[in-house]
Amino acid sequence: MSDAQAGCRSCGATTLDEILSLGRTPLANRLLTSEQLDETEPTYALTLVCCRSCSLVQILETVPPEVLFREYAYFSSYSDTMLRHAETIAGRLIRARELTAESLVVELASNDGYLLQYFLKQGITVLGVEPAENVARVARETRGVPTLAEFFGARVAERLWEGGQRADVVIANNVLAHVAELNDFVAGVRTLLKEEGVAVIEVPYVKEMIDRTEFDTIYHEHLCYFSLTALVHLFHRHGLAVKDVERIPVHGGSLRLFVVHRDALGDDTGVRALLAEEAEWGVDRLAFYEGFGRAATVLKDRLYALLHDLKRGGKRLAAYGAAAKGTTLLNYCGIGPEILEFVVDRSPYKQGRYMPGVRLPIHPPERLLESAPDYVLLLTWNLADEIMEQQREYTVRGGRFIVPVPEPRIA
Ligand code: ZN
Repeated sequence: MSDAQAGCRSCGATTLDEILSLGRTPLANRLLTSEQLDETEPTYALTLVCCRSCSLVQILETVPPEVLFREYAYFSSYSDTMLRHAETIAGRLIRARELTAESLVVELASNDGYLLQYFLKQGITVLGVEPAENVARVARETRGVPTLAEFFGARVAERLWEGGQRADVVIANNVLAHVAELNDFVAGVRTLLKEEGVAVIEVPYVKEMIDRTEFDTIYHEHLCYFSLTALVHLFHRHGLAVKDVERIPVHGGSLRLFVVHRDALGDDTGVRALLAEEAEWGVDRLAFYEGFGRAATVLKDRLYALLHDLKRGGKRLAAYGAAAKGTTLLNYCGIGPEILEFVVDRSPYKQGRYMPGVRLPIHPPERLLESAPDYVLLLTWNLADEIMEQQREYTVRGGRFIVPVPEPRIA
C-alpha cells in the first residue's frame, strides 16, 4: 500500500493543486524475473501536484522506502557520463575546499562509491550512506569505500555526530527528491555539517521538466520536483542557506546547490539572480505548470502514432535503456510487446529481467547488432550522446534512434 499525502512534503500546507495524473503505474525500478511474469504486479496511483503555499511540486503518493530502495537496480558506475561528472566535481571540491587527509567527505545515497572513490584516491577520509544493501556492498568490496547501509536522516546524523564525525563536505546528488521525510533529511544535513562546511546538493530542476515535457522523470521514487524558490524555503526552515547555485545538464537539467549554515552565508548574488528569474517565470503559480499536463498528453499521442506507423510499415523496433523513466514512458504511452521486441541495457543486473508493466525482455546492448532492428527508441535520452557514440556501429549499419522528448524525433 502507498499513503496519499495529506499535506505538503516541505511546509505541511494542505492546499495542493493537481498538475498531471499518470494513472496507476507499476514501480519503475521493479524489474521482473522470468518467475515473476506469472504474478500480478502491484500498481500505485501517480499524481503530480503543486503546493500553493511554498510552491513545491511533488507527487501525492508515498510508497514505503523499504519497498523501493532496499534492492536498487541503478548502479551509477554503468554510465561513463556520470563517472566523468563525479570525477570533475570531486576534483573541484578538493581544490576549492583545500581538503586533506584530515577532512571528512560524506556522501548521502553514495550508490556504489562511484563518486567517493575520487576523494579516496587523494587520501581524503570518506563515508558513504547508501540504503540499498546490495549496492553498499559493491562500494565496500570493490572500491574500499566505507559505506553504511542505512536511510540517512536526523537520527543517523546525530549518531555520527556523537561519534565525533563532522563533515567538511556533505554531498547529496540526486537523492533529495527521493526522500519521504524531507525535513528530517535536511535536519540531518545540518547536524552533520561543520560550521564552515558546505553541502553540495544536486536535484533535477522542475523548470527543465516543464519546458521539455520530461513527464517520464515522474515515478514513485521521485517524490519532489524542485525549483530554487521551493528549496530556499526548505533550507531556511532548518537554519541553512543556499550560498550558490549552478544549472547543470545532468538528468535532463539539474540544479547544483552549495548550502551552508545560515550564519556563514556570505555573497549569494547568483542565488538572488535565479530567484528573481523564477519569480518572473512564475514558478510559484499554478499557471506555470498547467500546460505541462496537456503537453504530456500530446507527446504521448505523437510518440505512439510514430512508432505504430513504423511498425505497420513493416519496420522492426526495440528500445535502449531499462531505466525508471523508461518504465513511466512505456506504461503511460501504452508501448509494449506489440510494438517493441526488446530493451537493451549495459547493466548485467538488469539483463535477463523484464520491464515493469509492459514486460519487455532486457538484453545486453550487443543484441542491437545481432538482431538489427530498424529503429531503437532511446529511453535514456539524458545520455543520448554517450549512447549513440557507443552504438555507432549500429547506426553505420543503417539503424536509427528515436528520441522521445521534448518531442519525438528520429535522430
Ligand atoms: Zn509547501
